[in-house]
Amino acid sequence: MTLPPEIKKFVDAFSELPGIGPRQATRLAFRLTHDHTQHIEQLAAAMEGLRDIVLCETCFFPYSSSVGHCPLCTDPARDQSLFMIVEKETDLIAIERAGAFHGRYCVIGSLEKSGVLDAEHERRLATLQNTITATAPDGKAREIIIAFSPTTAGDINAGRVAQRLRPYAQTISRIGRGIPTGGEIEFADDETLAEALGRRSTS
Ligand SMILES: [Zn+2]
Repeated sequence: MTLPPEIKKFVDAFSELPGIGPRQATRLAFRLTHDHTQHIEQLAAAMEGLRDIVLCETCFFPYSSSVGHCPLCTDPARDQSLFMIVEKETDLIAIERAGAFHGRYCVIGSLEKSGVLDAEHERRLATLQNTITATAPDGKAREIIIAFSPTTAGDINAGRVAQRLRPYAQTISRIGRGIPTGGEIEFADDETLAEALGRRSTS
């Protein structure tokens, strides 16, 4: 049996998204067809709203263009000499939720197991270096915390990133202790994250 082309198109588009496989996308499509008016309109409006999100060119976390500026980068209460590098936006959300970090961020983007930093990673690191030089007192961060998950990709890339940033910080540290090996920061609970942050190791 072949799927109606509209459903096939929906499944193809949604299967591309992280965490959604073809089977889940198919189930979602059929579920949405049960109630044309309400759910489809809500979903379409929510997706349309994502167009108003822009990427901060300083920390690379998305913000609403209706706000006009990145709330993280423009918050004067945040420590301007303390920086944290995370892999994904969802890692930043988890760290913020844990409430144990009040410095500035850099979202570097998905890391490869090969440990190779691509052009986009390099661009974001260069931006971080410029931000530190321009805004941190004495042009050097007091500390840069590398908050990569303790996965193969996280471990390999943490070393490279630390090496690259050494001239820009008095201390480079890594969180991860307390988070199970292979575990992901975005799925760690607040207490574990706060503990991992408190027990970070310097490299
Ligand atoms: Zn920002």
